[in-house]
Amino acid sequence: MKILKDKILEEGQAIGTDIVKVDYFLNHQLDVSFLKEIGKEFAKRMEGVKVDKILTVEASGIAIAVVTAEAMGIERAVFAKKTNPNTMKGECYTADAKSFTKGTTSTLRVGKEFLNAGENIFIVDDFLARGQAALALVEIVRNAGANVVGMGAVIEKEYQKGSQLLREKNVDVHSLCVIEKIEDGVITFK
Ligand code: 5GP
Repeated sequence: MKILKDKILEEGQAIGTDIVKVDYFLNHQLDVSFLKEIGKEFAKRMEGVKVDKILTVEASGIAIAVVTAEAMGIERAVFAKKTNPNTMKGECYTADAKSFTKGTTSTLRVGKEFLNAGENIFIVDDFLARGQAALALVEIVRNAGANVVGMGAVIEKEYQKGSQLLREKNVDVHSLCVIEKIEDGVITFK
């Protein structure tokens, strides 16, 4: 997606060889009209596939899930919680994910009432790095007896192998841009 690559080059920042900072439009400040284009692009990539719900993980995935649901004409977007707030009293589907940016492991939780057996779920997230967050969401969906119809990443860092792990689990990966490497502060796209 050309406008996404341009945006990363203009407003993003490489940190070392592993991290891309996109706080100007995706992770801190949100560029709303740009995000709507992201939603439309995911909708285009999923054309012809029946999707019942979008699933993501808090916090950065939420805006992406909303614009994608809107573009697909879907009423419900669900996000997994990373903590166990005392408002969450009912039963949950859970799966552990090691955070790429923080290095800590958190248990992702989705209330059982928000995922139903047989539903077709499209998973979205801002980044796909080692695939830990997405794999945990796949596990949650499958434990609910629902189907993963795809995983959409706004930015994939291919060399961190998350997409490979997802494909090994029979998940179709749709990345809107793929980073091949980061060297000396220069981001190279595939
Ligand atoms: P994974 O679970 O695939 O290893 O990492 C994906 C998660 O880590 C995403 O939810 C995202 O929030 C965070 N993440 C991974 N790589 C980056 C990065 O380069 N920049 C930022 N801002 N977040 C990242």
